[in-house]
Amino acid sequence: MNRGNGGTTEGELVFRGGGERALFIVEAGDLARAKRLLAYFDGMACEVRPIAVGPVVVCAAWVEQPGSGTFESMAEHLRDGYSLSICEPGFSPSMYRVALQLARDTEGELRPLECCSVCGAPDPFPTTLSLRVGGEEARFLFCQSCSGAVMDAPDAVARLLLGKAAERSPEWRDVELGPPMKSGRAWRFPIRRAADALSPSHR
Ligand SMILES: [Zn+2]
Repeated sequence: MNRGNGGTTEGELVFRGGGERALFIVEAGDLARAKRLLAYFDGMACEVRPIAVGPVVVCAAWVEQPGSGTFESMAEHLRDGYSLSICEPGFSPSMYRVALQLARDTEGELRPLECCSVCGAPDPFPTTLSLRVGGEEARFLFCQSCSGAVMDAPDAVARLLLGKAAERSPEWRDVELGPPMKSGRAWRFPIRRAADALSPSHR
C-alpha cells in the first residue's frame, strides 16, 4: 500500500483511564430475558461491554467517577429480579475466564475481549490506538494497568502511550496527536502521520 503524501492516513487514540469497574454475572434463564437485561444495562449511567449473552449474561461495566453508587444500585436491582446474580468489583482476568467458561458451558453467545498489546491481559475498556493506512487499520491496545490511571493531564498521558506503542511497533512512530475531545466517558485524540516523516523507501 502506498501511503501517498501527507494527510492520507489518520486515526485516533481513545483514552479510557481511571474510574471504577465491575463485572456482572447474571443467570437470565433464556435469551428473551437476557435481551431485556442488556437493555437494562444500556439504560444505566455507565459504559457496558457485554461479554456473554445467553442463559448466563456476563457484562463488564465502567463508571468514570468512583464511588458514584451506580454499581451498588444495579447489584441490588439484579438481586431482586434474578435468582443468581454476582457483581464483582473491579475487573480481573481470572474472574473473566471463570465467567467466560460459565457462559460457554451454558451455550451462550460469547463476545470475547481484546487483549492488551503490551502485556496480553484481556480488558473490557482498553485505551485504543487506531490508524488507517491505505485500506488497512492498525490497532494497538493498552489494558488499564498498562495505560495508567492518571486522568489529570490526558494530553501528557496520550503522548506517553504513543511513545510506548512506538517502542514496540514502527507504525506508531512519527505520529502527531491533535487536540483531545471528550466523547462520552472517553477522551478522543485525532492522530495522523507527520507529513515530513513519510519515507519513500518504506514498503
Ligand atoms: Zn497491559
